[in-house]
Amino acid sequence: MTQRYKTMIKTPTATIFFGNASHAVIPDVIRTTTLRPLACPLPVQQLFFQNQVHKNQGLAITEETRKNYTAHLVHDSDYLITHLPNIGIGVLTADCAPIALIDPRNTAIAMIHAGWRGSVGGIVLNALAHMNNLYGTQASDAIAYIGPCAHTCCYQIDQTFVNQLPGWAHAFVQNNRFDLVACNSTILRQAGIPAEQINLNTSTCTICNEKFLSYRRNSLNPARQPSIIWLN
Ligand SMILES: [Zn+2]
Repeated sequence: MTQRYKTMIKTPTATIFFGNASHAVIPDVIRTTTLRPLACPLPVQQLFFQNQVHKNQGLAITEETRKNYTAHLVHDSDYLITHLPNIGIGVLTADCAPIALIDPRNTAIAMIHAGWRGSVGGIVLNALAHMNNLYGTQASDAIAYIGPCAHTCCYQIDQTFVNQLPGWAHAFVQNNRFDLVACNSTILRQAGIPAEQINLNTSTCTICNEKFLSYRRNSLNPARQPSIIWLN
């Protein structure tokens, strides 16, 4: 487990906010009320979150679609992409991995909700393909940041879980634990993102670090930590 977790990551193109328990939001509540103030300079009206369903599809916030997506959590979506300035795209997690992608060449970004289901279902590849389609993103240019999520120190799984994994993903099971970070970093690398552009030191274990919300540690707590990315 790495301890080099930072809440705010500034790059020349975009800024990433990986929240923790102190930024907790309750997904069912932000549908009708405002988000709690976040350590993010954008007003809440410019932050986009959608209804996460642990699948592998997502939405693009473009000039054309922007007006349709102003309501939080209305559309089923597990990643958001955009090339618009002054828009924050986010996911809410507690053990699933938030993954941020930056394409500095085409000035485009993504925020992905990657639990094990979405991860083995190809959500990262879908987000990259969507960015390629709309913005011309090449994986070789993309920079990835994996945020706080369940790590192998704590992510214990059983045979029922293993049976649901596709064969190739069994490589990320060891000692009855699933390596969500290695699974996603391998997918990112195989998609064509150079290893040195995949940042893992922005991740830490949400289960054993009580600074974070963890579904595994407390499944009764409906609150989630927000992860948001926006173009500078
Ligand atoms: Zn742990």
